[in-house]
Amino acid sequence: MTRHVAILGGGCAGLSLAAKASAMPDTRIMVIEHPDYKTAKDHNWGCWAVDGMQAAHQMARKTWYRWAIYSEKKAVVQTAQHYPYMAISSAAWKGHCRITAKRQGVEFRSVRLSHIDQDQTGFRLVADQPLPDCHHIADSRTPDIPQGIMLQHFRGVEILAENPVFDPDCAVLMDFRCDQSRGIHFIYVLPYSPHQALIESTMFTPHPQEDAFYDHAITRYCEDIIKTGKRQVLRREAGIIPMGFLRPRDDRLDAIGGNGGAIRPSSGYAFTFIQRQIDEAMLHYQQKGELRFSSPHQRIDLWMDKVFLTVLRHRPDVAPMLFSHVASALNGDEMALFMSGLATSRIRLKIIMAMPKWPFLRAMFSGLGQRV
Ligand SMILES: Cc1cc2nc3c(=O)[nH]c(=O)nc-3n(C[C@H](O)[C@H](O)[C@H](O)COP(=O)(O)OP(=O)(O)OC[C@H]3O[C@@H](n4cnc5c(N)ncnc54)[C@H](O)[C@@H]3O)c2cc1C
Repeated sequence: MTRHVAILGGGCAGLSLAAKASAMPDTRIMVIEHPDYKTAKDHNWGCWAVDGMQAAHQMARKTWYRWAIYSEKKAVVQTAQHYPYMAISSAAWKGHCRITAKRQGVEFRSVRLSHIDQDQTGFRLVADQPLPDCHHIADSRTPDIPQGIMLQHFRGVEILAENPVFDPDCAVLMDFRCDQSRGIHFIYVLPYSPHQALIESTMFTPHPQEDAFYDHAITRYCEDIIKTGKRQVLRREAGIIPMGFLRPRDDRLDAIGGNGGAIRPSSGYAFTFIQRQIDEAMLHYQQKGELRFSSPHQRIDLWMDKVFLTVLRHRPDVAPMLFSHVASALNGDEMALFMSGLATSRIRLKIIMAMPKWPFLRAMFSGLGQRV
């Protein structure tokens, strides 16, 4: 019997799943998009090229085997032997997935869904156009973000600088030499050449700032810290990523992507975890013949993230020191594995040993019941 699967939302997770249609024989897949949600502007997905990320690695715009974390007090540079950091164009990845999915017979529909009815045989999608009933729904629509949770919010520009100030072999993951007066704030730099880089002003706080704050931070960084000289802006990007534990949008449906808990709570990284969530679901399909999605994170990582987020929320002043300590304790490949959810117990122990004990003990015993 042919099983009908609807994927709600054609973003990173929806399209990455649709591109795997041929791994789900006897299945007809339809991606349901919403006409009012315009295709998001092109932006970068930064992540590490760990095992399982080969397809993205092949499409990467650039990879870096070195990366740095700067605070006022020190610079930590990590070098990887096996797992470089990489930048993937969201437009290129989504375009590739869309074409691959269409070649495999996936249908795309743009409709306004009003509600979903469920009975023993499956789901009825009620929309402004008729849609076929389906047996299974993978829901990647953006989840609701609870008020007051920690957010990663950023604005950035890709620039051409007058002076050759960028080291194209070393990405800057965090540079805390910027205004810390409103909470955790750092500059992120992806250098594409000595003259060209993406520079983002990024904050971890519950409330986004006005645009001028990020723009001013980037200007100060370019002029006072790295001394770019004149700059030409090539493109801009901005975003808000929830850091925390979200409820799926509809409990009756299988949730995927950010809606399915794929965003790593302590970092906001999601691309790797979305690919892992889908790969694991495909493996399950091959073995059991049914589609099932689960969290791509290990429980111990979620527990460590909760403690870490509690510390960040209550002691934002220690953030530059914490991130520098983690980076100092690990080599590049260990950092890549940890950030990608593939840490061994030895790597986790190194991180725990590197942390100042007092704020973490307080977070473990007093803050865990609170919203992060
Ligand atoms: C600007 C930006 C930069 C990021 N950078 C990184 C990074 O460097 N590294 C990293 O790992 N992660 C990054 N992330 C986080 C994460 O990877 C992305 O948010 C990723 O796109 C999440 O994929 P998703 O499919 O869950 O959600 P989305 O890609 O947002 O897709 C959700 C889809 O649902 C659609 N939708 C919403 N409502 C409806 C509806 N009612 N009906 C139908 N469709 C609907 C939307 O239009 C969208 O297409 C970034 C996020 C942003 C926004």
